[in-house]
Amino acid sequence: MSAYLSRLIRIQPTLNPRITPFTSAIRRQSTMSSPPTVTKTATCLCGSVSFTSTGVDKGSVLCHCSNCQKFGGGPFMHNTRLIQAENKFTRGEEILKKYEDRDTKNGNVLERYFCGNCGSPMMFKSPNTPGLVVLQSGTLQEQQQPRFELYGENRHGWIPDLTAKKAKM
Ligand SMILES: [Zn+2]
Ligand SMILES: [Zn+2]
Repeated sequence: MSAYLSRLIRIQPTLNPRITPFTSAIRRQSTMSSPPTVTKTATCLCGSVSFTSTGVDKGSVLCHCSNCQKFGGGPFMHNTRLIQAENKFTRGEEILKKYEDRDTKNGNVLERYFCGNCGSPMMFKSPNTPGLVVLQSGTLQEQQQPRFELYGENRHGWIPDLTAKKAKM
């Protein structure tokens, strides 16, 4: 076996299949005239709400803003962004509830959607950015490594940098 091959085999097991490599996403986009779309399925904890969102994948981000901390009930939120997106409900559209968050850091109104039965945070939309759907990554089967962080100045000191940018170095 050549030295090159044995090196390649040694490297392979370290690749994490759950993480979509950022570079291959860029390559896909630059070789096609219209950007590729993906379909993601979001389901809440109790299963009452389920929908698919189809759009152009803009990757996931961590948001450390205090509103996301409260809404998500954790130290930050992990959000997956699609643009030019369309939602199709399998079930539970009538159960979904909306909270209009008007006290955001950038001043935009953020519509925060959650299951009216179990309370799972599911999605953000904003009238300021039509076509943008931000899915709460915990509702999805596959969760991407975040590309960058929002409001990093709010990040708790005990949380390391989890973004793809730094992790590659
Ligand atoms: Zn639910
Ligand atoms: Zn936020």
